[in-house]
Amino acid sequence: MSMEFDLHTHSSQGSACSRMLVWDLVQAACKKGLDGVCITDHDFCWDPRELAKLYSESGVQVYSGIELSTPVGEILVYGVHQSLLHLRGDLPKLALRVKELGGVMVVAHPFRIEFGLSMLSREERGMKAIDVEEMCKRSVFSYADTLEIYNGRSSWREIKAAQKAAEILNKKGTGGSDAHSTLSVGACVTVFDYPIVNETQLITQLRNGSYHAKKRL
Ligand SMILES: [Zn+2]
Ligand SMILES: [Zn+2]
Repeated sequence: MSMEFDLHTHSSQGSACSRMLVWDLVQAACKKGLDGVCITDHDFCWDPRELAKLYSESGVQVYSGIELSTPVGEILVYGVHQSLLHLRGDLPKLALRVKELGGVMVVAHPFRIEFGLSMLSREERGMKAIDVEEMCKRSVFSYADTLEIYNGRSSWREIKAAQKAAEILNKKGTGGSDAHSTLSVGACVTVFDYPIVNETQLITQLRNGSYHAKKRL
């Protein structure tokens, strides 16, 4: 039985940019029929015990990730429950530490800088088209386990570029809504091939590539 998780969401408790209380987030996930959700606040660590309580009260699995701001863009880290802020300037050290801690690194919305949040094409904005193949040579892709393909805030052009990058890099690619309000929770998800009942199983499937990204809305 496959399971659908929204791997990228923000709560107002952990992200100044979000208006969504964590309980509302979990309720929205429940209404939308998701099996689970990862709260990936910016540079913030949730206490797993607090999230376990939410899981038992709602029936929706709730785990945390960290959306780490780094000089090479934002990186989603799953399965790590301690601050990694001191390593964000050193990609090789960060990757090594995440591996030691049993976590997984995902390049968040990998082409956000190039595409921004505009629906207009780069050409329409007087910018040069991008060469995805060339961009795949960025070192962040060799250190991260995978990249995010579907992000609920990305334009379809940005998603297309991420899909192409995943093909070139031979990576599965994840999906998450990047929701900052309840409306967009579950807009994009990651579908896992096997049932998940705890965070370890989620991380194992992320590591093994037993999943695919999906746009739901
Ligand atoms: Zn982000
Ligand atoms: Zn985000």
